[in-house]
Amino acid sequence: MNTPTPLCLRTTAPRETQALAAALAGLVGDGDLIVLVGDLGAGKTAFTQGFAAALDVTEPVTSPTFTLANRYVGRLVVNHLDVYRIEALEEAQDLALIELLDEGVTLIEWGDVILPALPADRLDVRITLGEGDDDRDLDITTVGPRWDARAADLADALGEWRR
Ligand code: ADP
Ligand code: MG
Repeated sequence: MNTPTPLCLRTTAPRETQALAAALAGLVGDGDLIVLVGDLGAGKTAFTQGFAAALDVTEPVTSPTFTLANRYVGRLVVNHLDVYRIEALEEAQDLALIELLDEGVTLIEWGDVILPALPADRLDVRITLGEGDDDRDLDITTVGPRWDARAADLADALGEWRR
């Protein structure tokens, strides 16, 4: 059993969260899953914007709250989901998530709601509000061998935001 030890990070502006996400994007490949957890306004979409831009997505990344899933094509395909409005796990199954995950990298806002429908390997990014209005604490946890193998690289790439 591995005990997850989160990487505890902090940003103090939206652009910093985007820069952090961009640094993370350098470590991803096809089939990777990132679950974004945090209240409304925490910065899950902002994170995805920085992430997608780093993968050369030029289209504006907008919140998929109503569309559920957006697909962008950059150096990799970036699937961006927001499952906030999903009320039953069956709806997640309807999204054909598993097929989506085959191509490119997938980020799911509020993904904790549908964890049982998701593959075991994932990176959890939990964002909480800090003391100042623009402070955000990001706790990043690897789950499963796919991401565990990159734990040291993650710590290196994201070290400058450590809190
Ligand atoms: P979510 O998708 O989690 O609901 P959004 O990314 O849509 O959140 O919104 C985050 C809001 O918080 C934006 O208005 C953004 O400008 C603001 N913000 C302030 N500070 C930060 C920060 N450090 N990181 C990310 N967003 C921040
Ligand atoms: Mg959002």
